[in-house]
Amino acid sequence: MSDMTTAPVASVSPVTEAEGPGVRYALWFQGCPLRCPGCCNPEYLPFTGGTPRSIESILAEIGQSREQNKIEGITLLGGEPFAHAEPASMIAAGTQALGLSVMVFSGFTLEHLRESPDPHVRRLLHNTDILVDGPYVREQPDTTRRWIGSTNQRIHFLTDRYRADDPSWAKPNTLEIRVRGKEILVNGFPAADAKGLWKGWKRKK
Ligand code: SF4
Repeated sequence: MSDMTTAPVASVSPVTEAEGPGVRYALWFQGCPLRCPGCCNPEYLPFTGGTPRSIESILAEIGQSREQNKIEGITLLGGEPFAHAEPASMIAAGTQALGLSVMVFSGFTLEHLRESPDPHVRRLLHNTDILVDGPYVREQPDTTRRWIGSTNQRIHFLTDRYRADDPSWAKPNTLEIRVRGKEILVNGFPAADAKGLWKGWKRKK
């Protein structure tokens, strides 16, 4: 691992139950090349901004959350984690080395990612237990699968760490709201209305 490698971080939640199975540490990357209409994180789309953080500091924070919050894994979101495949793959590999699981949300399909010539993309796939793939489609809101935004998105179990028939997948979406000082942090996936539109929820940093 290069000491110089940093990850552009838009936001972190050291402990959440709204971004994947069990209790998890969630990290949102800053920067996404896609532009899904209705994206709930438009402020995370530019590749400028965010906070550059060292891989070591992120892994130390994940290890701390494992001790303090008993997390079972991490979730990488965006922004687009695969647009930051080198630091993301380092975080994923380091996390699995801690005995924790890795879940990744990507706007790209698994087929597209598997065709990538970028070795860091392949490494991130190799170190991912659960991949949720595909762009968010506002007109196809998913109201039955927990954590999933639209019905076109697929859940890939890339390792045998989790099972597709786990009943927790069938629970409805979850939204968390936290107050941290003067900040209001919202994460998870809000319910969409009958037209597939957000009900005014917006993540704030
Ligand atoms: S891939 Fe995700 S972050 Fe990127 S535009 Fe689509 S919904 Fe937004």
